[in-house]
Amino acid sequence: MATINLIPNKRKTNPIHRKKSDSNLPHSLIYNTKHWEVLRINYLVLNPICEQCKKALAIDVHHIMPISTGRNESEIKRLGFDVNNLKACCKACHKEIHYKLNNTYY
Ligand SMILES: [Zn+2]
Ligand SMILES: [Zn+2]
Repeated sequence: MATINLIPNKRKTNPIHRKKSDSNLPHSLIYNTKHWEVLRINYLVLNPICEQCKKALAIDVHHIMPISTGRNESEIKRLGFDVNNLKACCKACHKEIHYKLNNTYY
């Protein structure tokens, strides 16, 4: 006789919900791309020291003009992939910059 296994579907609801789905657009357009991955690594190779404190090793690449200010897809991409809009930062400086900017976009 076959037994029916009623497995409770507890994992159906994902606890990690995207809070602001709309504001995730710049993020997914830039950071989830191979283009960004390559650009970021190349930028850090060329700028290994934090451009802010000029002391620590740069780990993050910051966008001077936040990509979230782009009003549409092409603007976001232009900001995101423009080398002149990038800044190599150590973790501490990057955090500080964003603290001052009062936004969470990298
Ligand atoms: Zn720094
Ligand atoms: Zn940043």
